[in-house]
Amino acid sequence: MSIIRVALPVPMRRLFDYLAIDTQVEIGARVKVPFGNRSLVGVVWEKQSESDWDQSKLKPIQSVIDPEPIFDPSLCKLCNWLAQYYKHPIGDVVQTAMPAALRKGESSAPKPVDYLTLSQTGQNMALTELSRAPKQQALLTALKQQDLSKAQAKSDFGLSAVNALLDKDLIELSSQTPTGNCQWKTQLALQPSPQANVEQALAISSIEAKLDEYACFLLDGITGSGKTEVYLRSIEPVLKAGRQVLILVPEIGLTPQTVHRFKHRFGIEVGVLHSGLTNKERLGVWQKSRAGQLGIVIGTRSAIFSPMQDLGLLIVDEEHDSSYKQQDGLRYHARDLAVVRASNQNVPLILGSATPALETLNNALTGRYQHLVLQHRAGNASIASQHIFDIRQQPLQFGIAQGMLDRIKQHLDGGSQVMLFINRRGYAPSLICHQCGHVEGCHRCNKPYTLHKQLNKLQCHHCGDAKRVPSQCQECHSTQFNTMGVGTEQLEQGLQSYFPEYSSIRIDSDSARGKNKLDAMLSSINKNQHQILIGTQILSKGHHFPNVTLVLILDVDGALFSADFRAAEHIAQLITQLAGRAGRAEKPGEMWLQTHDPAHPLLQDLINNGFAHFARYALLERQHAALPPFAYQALFKAQSLRADHAFAFLSEVRELLAPYTGVMCIGPIPALMEKRQGQFRMQLVLQAGQRGPLQQALGQIINQVETLPLAPKVRWALDVDPQDFS
Ligand code: ADP
Ligand code: ZN
Ligand code: ZN
Repeated sequence: MSIIRVALPVPMRRLFDYLAIDTQVEIGARVKVPFGNRSLVGVVWEKQSESDWDQSKLKPIQSVIDPEPIFDPSLCKLCNWLAQYYKHPIGDVVQTAMPAALRKGESSAPKPVDYLTLSQTGQNMALTELSRAPKQQALLTALKQQDLSKAQAKSDFGLSAVNALLDKDLIELSSQTPTGNCQWKTQLALQPSPQANVEQALAISSIEAKLDEYACFLLDGITGSGKTEVYLRSIEPVLKAGRQVLILVPEIGLTPQTVHRFKHRFGIEVGVLHSGLTNKERLGVWQKSRAGQLGIVIGTRSAIFSPMQDLGLLIVDEEHDSSYKQQDGLRYHARDLAVVRASNQNVPLILGSATPALETLNNALTGRYQHLVLQHRAGNASIASQHIFDIRQQPLQFGIAQGMLDRIKQHLDGGSQVMLFINRRGYAPSLICHQCGHVEGCHRCNKPYTLHKQLNKLQCHHCGDAKRVPSQCQECHSTQFNTMGVGTEQLEQGLQSYFPEYSSIRIDSDSARGKNKLDAMLSSINKNQHQILIGTQILSKGHHFPNVTLVLILDVDGALFSADFRAAEHIAQLITQLAGRAGRAEKPGEMWLQTHDPAHPLLQDLINNGFAHFARYALLERQHAALPPFAYQALFKAQSLRADHAFAFLSEVRELLAPYTGVMCIGPIPALMEKRQGQFRMQLVLQAGQRGPLQQALGQIINQVETLPLAPKVRWALDVDPQDFS
């Protein structure tokens, strides 16, 4: 008999003891256990011969789900680090690290799947007989080499080709359990790569020198400088050595084109993990990467938890992207976790970006990471020239000055595409009564509703609440309304009527909602079906538009005066990324920024000296202001229906921290967004010059915070290394 300590999905910072009588169970395997009057799926985290509790009261486990561990020692180590660093309940960490199907207790063993094999007739048939059906011919050719799973054949050759061959009895279906063999190792078929330029060659050889140990590289290269090419070349020797590669990409960057580039270069199946997968699909990728059956796994944030049989290289593309930070529950940063994982597993890590996060850049400048710089464009890429347009005292039509409209016309008439960025979706950010000045606002958030004209709705962009556009003012019953400000919808309408001969397309989270919608839009743009592209942040992420020669950014002024100390960094990243989306070598583009503050030092520095210069200056500013990365922060957040509860709770937390002189507390203060969904939101900012004292203080008080009398009355959370103060 032994005592096992189980990580359970309950919000308590501890493990739970159970008895394992006459059963073998391993650390890292799932078990089903009684908990209160429920039964829960948990993971065995420790084994002991004695319990700290009264052993006679311990209950036996109900069943063992996994005969073998599903968490290997390195994943266990990663989870322990997460729980410890983010002060988060281990049970919840373990849940986050598992695919949903496994959380529910489903078997982790691969299920038999349908395979396609050649029939006797198929084997004997000459391929030329299918020359009029090229897809079928290609499938038959592939099957002559080896059996394929039906799913694989469907995705590579199309369902109709599969069905046609089945109908003709050229192939047969059979049910097979995927075996542990790693076909990709023998399938590797490298497509030729371009000759690396000097900067790339230097980067590639620096990385190659460290393939057998932990090293972290910042691949700091302007858009189009060939970073992806450096990834590909660094991946090559890893795959050849039979080891696996894990690549993280931002949510929006995970397009079929991205995946195709990796698939195509190496000629092997690539595992893809993103939020749109079904539980079954996700489990499938998890099983294969764990068994070593995938050479490359590409995924968004949570892919960092993928079990890999033999990890040889980690890559985080666009490492500055905000989607790597989880903003609820376990508030981890996948890029930081990648550093921990690479170091634990003694493998190299490449962080790539054209606009590195200041934290990362600082690590590179101080020598903790190796700084690999690509300053020149590779191949056919170009970066737009950047300009500021002063709109003070200029009349604006749907947010655009006449001078800019003329420029748009020039580019359109010249046969190019133009791209307009505005940071607001909807028609207008508020609706005002022309008679009495009343602004329709969401009571739960104390913010104006955004007008969505197409839907005939007012929508709160903070809580999602929506209602029909009123016909009369609530206050004075007037029927005359005006809109204030401009959103994507209005911009689209305005441009459509101003340039009726050109087609426009709007890309924001309203229009791009739905499966594959964004991909379809992007490909219609690359086919030149639209000349005017209007969009939000989505435009700045990962997609290249070679026919765009004019980028116009409409509203940066708000961000220049934000209360968030990272606002300047984010706006500089956005502007630089947008400029990098456009143009190509023979047709370089230009980017214009409309502003009321043309002399703003940030804009001037960025436009004249580029992001690298701006970023070094911004780091100096952070140093003078003692802000991250020169200080370490944590944030206690609390919200409640009564503002005084949230305030009092955080005041108590502050008192708990009083003995820790190395930690400075700011607050409790209202969050930037004071009220949301009817809840009052307060925060307590903790800051320390060193990570150690902050971690230590948090570790000491977190259990007391949990048991504070007001804790059950508020919704509270701790965010270590917070990115977002809204
Ligand atoms: P990034 O990832 O930095 O944006 P990419 O790797 O996508 O850059 O490269 C931009 C373009 O330049 C791609 O079309 C790529 O195929 C091409 N390219 C990259 N490196 C070279 C090279 N050394 N010679 C020629 N073309 C290259
Ligand atoms: Zn009114
Ligand atoms: Zn609201």
